Amino acid sequence: QVKEKGRAHYRFYQTYMESSFPNYMIMESHLRKAIEKEELSIHYQPQINLSSGTVDSFEALIRWNNRKFGFVSPGQFIPLAEETGLIHGIGEWVLEHVCLQLRNWRERGNKDVRIAINISPKQFQQEQLVDTIREYLDKYGIPAECLEIEITEGAMQDTQQTLSVLKKLKELGVFISVDDFGTGYSSLNYLKRFPIDILKIDQSFVREIGSSQKDSAITTTIIHLAHSLGMEVIAEGVEEEGQVHFLKEANCQKAQGFYFSKPKVPEELEHYVYA
Ligand code: C2E
Ligand code: MG
Ligand code: MG
Ligand code: MG
Repeated sequence: QVKEKGRAHYRFYQTYMESSFPNYMIMESHLRKAIEKEELSIHYQPQINLSSGTVDSFEALIRWNNRKFGFVSPGQFIPLAEETGLIHGIGEWVLEHVCLQLRNWRERGNKDVRIAINISPKQFQQEQLVDTIREYLDKYGIPAECLEIEITEGAMQDTQQTLSVLKKLKELGVFISVDDFGTGYSSLNYLKRFPIDILKIDQSFVREIGSSQKDSAITTTIIHLAHSLGMEVIAEGVEEEGQVHFLKEANCQKAQGFYFSKPKVPEELEHYVYA
C-alpha cells in the first residue's frame, strides 16, 4: 500500500515538474526537437504610423507550442535557448521564416512591408551573423531594407566588434533598432558611434505615461533624443487611448501594442498588409 502511494505521489510529482514547474532539463530536450517537430511559429505585431494610421511594418515574435508544456512564452524559453546554444538554430529558423513571409506578402502585392526580428546578444556576437542574413535575403529575393534587426542595449557593448557588425549590417542595408531602449546600462555614447536607425521606447515607460510624470518625461525625452539624432522612434506596449494621444502630441512616429493589435498569425493581418 505504501508502495502504491509512493508511485502515485511520484506520478504527481513528475507531472507537476514537467508541466507547471519550469524544469529546464526536460524543457531543453523538448526545445531541442522543436524545429523538426514543427512546434515553432511566428506571430506578427503591427506597428502603427501615428500620423497616417497605416501599418508599414511588423515585429516578428516567436511562439513555441509543445505537446507537454503547451504554449511556452519566449520570455521563458529564449533565455534557455541562449544558455544551451539552441538560439543559433532557432534564430536562423526565425530569419528564414520571416524572409518567406516577406516573399509571400511581396509576391501578393505589398512590396514595401518591413519586418523587424529580435536578435539575442548571443547571436549578435557571432562572426557569421551578417553573412547568414545576407544569404537568406538573397535566397528569397528580399531587399535588405525590408528587414529590421532589433538589438537590446545589452548586446551593444562599446567594442570594436559591435561597431564592426553594426557597420556591416548598415552596409548590407537592413534597418537597425534598439529594443527596450532606456532599460539597459549602456552609455548614450553608443548612440553617437553606432549606426542606429530606430529607438524603441520600452513598455515600462509607456505603461505609466498617464500616471507618472517621470515616465512621461522620459518618454518625451527619448522622442526628442531620437529626432535630434535623425532616428525614428517607436513606442512599445501601448494599451490605452490616453497613451496614443500623449504619443501623438509628443510627435512619436510609430506605436505598437495591444491597443492596436496583439501579435497575430499572418492570415489575420491581411487587412493591414493590403490596406
Ligand atoms: P520584445 O522584443 O520587447 O517584444 C515585446 C513583447 O511585448 C512581446 O512579448 C509582445 O507580445 C509584448 N507586447 C506587445 N504589445 C504589448 C502590450 O500592449 N502590452 C503588453 N503587456 N505586452 C505587449 P513576447 O512575444 O512574449 O516576447 C517577449 C520577448 O521575447 C521579446 O521582447 C523578445 O525579447 C523575446 N523574443 C521574442 N521573439 C524572439 C525571437 O524570435 N528571437 C529572440 N532572440 N528573442 C525573441
Ligand atoms: Mg523586440
Ligand atoms: Mg521591447
Ligand atoms: Mg524585451
